Amino acid sequence: MLTKCRWCGKEFETANSKTKYCSEACRRKRKSMAVSEYIRHKRNMRKPKTDNNLRLAQISRICRENGISYGQAVATGLVED
Ligand SMILES: [Zn+2]
Repeated sequence: MLTKCRWCGKEFETANSKTKYCSEACRRKRKSMAVSEYIRHKRNMRKPKTDNNLRLAQISRICRENGISYGQAVATGLVED
């Protein structure tokens, strides 16, 4: 059967309908791309958490400097809730 490579789009002949790539090189390229996409995705997922940790660190520093609790810092408008 004739099928299209999922990576380079070239049509190629294969006996196995499950074959998605025309060559081992294309299969590997697609795989390494998937890995880098996954890493990027994970990085994006992690970003808000890092920012939040940074924010909490700043808040606790403000509280320590002013000798107040988190609740007081929010109440007085020193930090945003
Ligand atoms: Zn290919």
